[in-house]
Amino acid sequence: MARLGSWIETFPEGIYVRPADAWVDPSRPKPRALVTHGHGDHARGGHGAVFATPETLAIMALRYGEQNGQPVGYGESLRVGDVDVGFVPAGHVLGSAQIVLEHAGEKIVVSGDYKRREDPTCHLFVPVPCDVFITEATFGLPVFRHPETGGEIDRLLHRLHSDESRCVLVGAYALGKAQRVIAELRRRGHEEPIYIHGALEKMCALYEEHGIALGELRPATGASKDELRGKIVIAPPGALNDRWSRRLPDPVTAMASGWMRIRQRARQANVELPLVISDHADWDELTCTIRELEPTEVWITHGREEALKHWCLMHQIKACELNLVGYEDEGED
Ligand SMILES: [Zn+2]
Ligand SMILES: [Zn+2]
Repeated sequence: MARLGSWIETFPEGIYVRPADAWVDPSRPKPRALVTHGHGDHARGGHGAVFATPETLAIMALRYGEQNGQPVGYGESLRVGDVDVGFVPAGHVLGSAQIVLEHAGEKIVVSGDYKRREDPTCHLFVPVPCDVFITEATFGLPVFRHPETGGEIDRLLHRLHSDESRCVLVGAYALGKAQRVIAELRRRGHEEPIYIHGALEKMCALYEEHGIALGELRPATGASKDELRGKIVIAPPGALNDRWSRRLPDPVTAMASGWMRIRQRARQANVELPLVISDHADWDELTCTIRELEPTEVWITHGREEALKHWCLMHQIKACELNLVGYEDEGED
């Protein structure tokens, strides 16, 4: 009997699905790409044809210009070469999908990046039982257990209200995290205008066009110091400590990231208020997902592979690492 998934080949630049003559999230331009989501380490410009959800295609068009896109909605499936290909919600960012590949009686799911928690800006992860589950492991160590998001948002609001002569500047990645933090704040009843860095404007507008309400957003650039007192300002992480932030009234520097679980990282980034809010599965989410899907094999794409591989072996699941390069560049989490 052929090895399970023998029709899939992995190369440093991505996963090649031979009977479809297509690549999943290739890091170099390819004639045919199946793209899980819009983050820069998964979606690149310049492919011949791109199969992705309509939301991911819109994000790619914003970042790279119009693509030769083949939109595939959640739950739809199509035939590519000799493979049935389906897109299922991954719960990571707007439009993010797991890609379900069926060929020769085998079902293989490529998760892309995913999380299991509820997120007001994207669809909840849908578990698809499969023979091979190809998973990320960004936070694949038992030390990574993300707290409840609502509690982190409450800490942010508490800090904001404890000294209204200051503003709270939150570092958040431009795609996904920024919009999620805004939507979570709204959900917690924060109705004040939220000020955003110019680099976030287009992506926030794209989310709104796709039906994600973000409330009143104002450009931070051009707002006076007095106007910003007692307000929340959201900016990409790179703007936290640069000249741009000097215009703000004595900002409390916060950062929303799964990495904020590591105190040292927060200190290095001069973050006064670390918020552990992640768009990736934590250790419990990774292991619960594998238990739930009961795959025969787990292939691990990127992150902390060793611990997860060991956990799989302890649970009688065959596991291996794929050694792809170039993922996790954007540091989105
Ligand atoms: Zn991602
Ligand atoms: Zn990623």
